[in-house]
This record gives sequence, structure tokens and C-alpha cells, in this order.
Amino acid sequence: MRSVMHFIDGAAASFGGGTGKVFAPTTGEVQATVELGDRAVLERAVVSARAAQAGWASINPQRRARVMFAFKGLLEARMDELAELLASEHGKVVSDARGDIQRGLDVVEFACGIPHLLKGEFSEGAGAGIDVYSMRQPLGVVAGITPFNFPAMIPLWMLAPAIVCGNAFILKPSERDPSVPVRLAELLCEAGLPAGVLNVVQGDKQIVDAILDHPDIKAVSFVGSSDIAQYVYGRGAAAGKRMQCMGGAKNHGIVMPDADLDQTVADILGAAYGSAGERCMALPVVVPVGEATADALRDKLVGEIDKLKVGISTDPEAHFGPVVSAQHKERIEHYIQMAVEEGSELVVDGRGFGLQGYENGYFLAPTLLDRVTSGMKSYQDEIFGPVLQIVRARNFEEAVALPTRHQYGNGVAIFTRNGDAAREFASRVEVGMVGINVPIPVPVSYHSFGGWKRSGFGDMNQYGMDGIRFYTRVKTVTQRWPSGGKVLDQSFVIPTMR
Ligand code: NAD
Repeated sequence: MRSVMHFIDGAAASFGGGTGKVFAPTTGEVQATVELGDRAVLERAVVSARAAQAGWASINPQRRARVMFAFKGLLEARMDELAELLASEHGKVVSDARGDIQRGLDVVEFACGIPHLLKGEFSEGAGAGIDVYSMRQPLGVVAGITPFNFPAMIPLWMLAPAIVCGNAFILKPSERDPSVPVRLAELLCEAGLPAGVLNVVQGDKQIVDAILDHPDIKAVSFVGSSDIAQYVYGRGAAAGKRMQCMGGAKNHGIVMPDADLDQTVADILGAAYGSAGERCMALPVVVPVGEATADALRDKLVGEIDKLKVGISTDPEAHFGPVVSAQHKERIEHYIQMAVEEGSELVVDGRGFGLQGYENGYFLAPTLLDRVTSGMKSYQDEIFGPVLQIVRARNFEEAVALPTRHQYGNGVAIFTRNGDAAREFASRVEVGMVGINVPIPVPVSYHSFGGWKRSGFGDMNQYGMDGIRFYTRVKTVTQRWPSGGKVLDQSFVIPTMR
């Protein structure tokens, strides 16, 4: 059986110890094992990263960018191979897996601009003969801990900016689909990255805790569920590290009475059920405004859900594949049952779906629930599956209040033809990323990604300029070159210097 190892010092590395199982969600079979590292494994990764970092940081940014350019070319060339590997461990359909890689590639492209992005500031003549300049320097050794649902995109969100800024990066991917992150590291080395600048350690809580406690790791980026994000944030910050921890989500789509309903339904279906709902920017809640809008929306949704095809990840006709694990499937089914017991109306039940020839795969068909209310636990919690909940709002005010009061604040969308309503909504709603007639408003790579409330702990977003800020620290130099006879401007000298 295939064994997924760590990747340290430019090569696959095995240190024995515990292992975990990597399942094939399509068949339910174990397809590989993954090493579960401990503090000793992390120590090896840190020693290697420390040794490599200073040399890497001393290379000029343009040359570091060239490695990223070469990496970008390799990712493009290997897209199909990577997408198939990704789909086989995650379960998402191959076209969706390509999207996962492409969104990460976008951040790699942004990172190619590092010579420009890293330019500092300069103030000439801040005092007589005095100039002030600031520069951004790397932090040293930094780490990233990533979830199962985007095994290419999220590692790339982190490692691309971290590395081009001159840091060495230690990646701890999800133990559920660990193979693609190792391939990314191999490709980066092939692109010319010196050994040790990117190490991948495999494991679970044990190695995460080791990362959070290690004094030589200066910053940690985390993406995963909210309880773990909060725990990771607290432990890492208490150890004095710079932290950014993205958590879970429950994104709402507000449907105004004037929305283009056909387009809106098409958008909602893709956003709610695509990738089996296992996206932090999925749209698992729709909020039609007014009973007439709700009834019309529901009727159209029911008609279109019927046309969705659930299939194996290599089926080009399939809209989505299985969920990631047997436990996750059970958890989603539990939430559907809870929603029913809480009084919501089960319009379409996706439980009990079986795919011929793949009876042990973790498949669920789309579920639609209506008359869900804000007091229900099945509404308040993140379900993270192919389940869409309709929460009916009487008016615009009620609709704005729902995402604003929800514990999560990752993404939200409004569907309308009314610019005034859309503008007011975008201004007032307490959510980090807003879509106006855009169902999944993931910002492009030169903006930045981050949710509010329990969707994000820490104060800097992923990628874009925030990515550059997170992985660098500012040094400000005040310099004076007294030239013959010039008197120091006393008004400039701060009191402690007198
Ligand atoms: P998860 O929280 O179970 O795992 C994330 C990472 O934390 C993994 O690397 C895992 O090994 C590690 N981990 C798990 N339990 C831990 C513990 N007790 N202590 C320390 N580390 C631990 O998340 P997941 O199931 O892999 O991913 C799905 C979740 O991620 C969803 O909640 C989803 O909304 C969220 N997510 C958020 C974003 C975002 O940007 N906000 C993006 C993608 C996914």
C-alpha cells in the first residue's frame, strides 16, 4: 500500500511511528497510509528550515520570483495529474479539483510580483539631513496548518507569499488528503527552491501542538473549523507567535423579490451543492424576502435539484461527488434529522442515496429544507454537506439581520436588480466577504480573503497584500549624514535625545 511521508530537506522522509488511514471516498477503501509525526519529526523540519532560511532570504527578490514563475509553469503542466490525485483523496469531481489548483495558482502568480510588493517606503528630509526609510523583512521560520477541503489552494495561499518574502515554511496539511501537498513541495524543489525552504510534516493534533509550542516558529497560519481555529490561535498567540486562524462558516444568500430567479437558482445550486457543500464559501442558507419570492424560489429549486447528478469524481457528467469520510457523512445525516426534529420541512431528502457499484462510497444526494428558523441548532451550526436550508424573511431588515447576527461571518451574497438595496446591504451586513449577484465571493488573489466573527481569529487576511504583511515585519531606519557645517534641527530631535 502507498505510504505518504513527510518531506524534509528536499526529499521524502520516513521516521516510523504512528500512521493514519487515507480513504478513497468513492469506494470507502483505504488507499494509503500517512505518517503521523510527533515533536521529534517537527524538530527535524525546524532544523532544516532554520539552516535554509538565511541563505534563501539573501537571494534577491527577483530571483526568488523566478522560482515562483518556474513553479507556476510546473503546476500548469501537471494540472491533470494533480487534479486526479486530489480528487481521489478528497472525493470532489476532477473539474472542481482543477479549480482548487487554479485558485492556488492565482496566488502563485501574485507572488511572482514580489520585487514590487516588497518595496519599502522612503521619506527624504524628515529633519535637517535626516531621511527615514522602512523595509519589510521575513520573519524566519513560519508554518501553516491546512484543512481537508482545499488540499492545493489553501497550502498555496500560505506557502507562496511566505516563501517569496524570504521565509522558510513548514506545512502541516490535513491527514485526510495529504498527497497533493507533498507533490507541491516536490514541484517547488524542481522549480529551483533550495532544500529546506519548504518542508511538509504529516500528522494530527500532536504535531500541531508541537508547531504551536516551538520557539523557532515565528508565525502560524491556520485554516479549519472554528473551535480548532480558536484553540490554535490562543495557544500560538500565548507562545508569542503572529497568528491568523480562519474558521468555519454558514453563508447566507439573500434573494430579493426583484432578483432574476432563473440565474439566482442556477447560482445557488452550484454554490450550495458544488463540492458536496464542503466549501467554507458554500451557500448553505438562502433567505428569500417575502412569501411570494420564497414559494417561487422553492419551486424552481426543487425542479432543478432533480437534475443534479451525484457521481464518482472521474465522471465528467457528475455535479458533485462523495463527502470526505464515513464519519462526516454520518454527521451530515445527523444534522438533517435534527433539522426535521426541530420543525423544518424536509422538501428533498438526500439521505439513503446509493450509487451502483460504489455502495460503500460516502455519497449523499442534495437535501433541501424549508421553514428553517434562526433559533434552530441545525441553522446555527455549520453542516458542511450538500444541504440547503431556506429561512424565510418578511422584509429586507429581517434578511440583513440574519447573517449579521449569525456566529459565523465568512461570506454572504445578495441577489437583486436594485443597486440601492445591494449597496446598503454590503455596507451594513457584518460579514467579511460580500457578493452582489455573485454566489461565492472569494476575492481574487490581489485582494485578500478573510471572514469576521467566529470565521476568523487574528487580524490579517490570507493572501493579497495582507499575505505579504503577515509574513514580513517592518523595520524603520532613521538616518543622518551630517555634512560640513550643517546644524542639527533641534525641533526634530525628540526629547529623550537632548
Ligand atoms: P479541522 O479543523 O478538523 O482540521 C483543520 C486542521 O487542524 C487539520 O490540519 C487538522 O489536522 C488539524 N486539527 C484537527 N483537530 C485538531 C486539534 N484538536 N488540535 C489541533 N489541530 C487539529 O477542519 P477540516 O475538517 O479539515 O476542514 C473543514 C473546516 O475548515 C470547515 O469548518 C470549514 O468551514 C473550514 N474552512 C475554513 C476556511 C476559511 O478560510 N475560513 C477555508 C476552508 C475550510
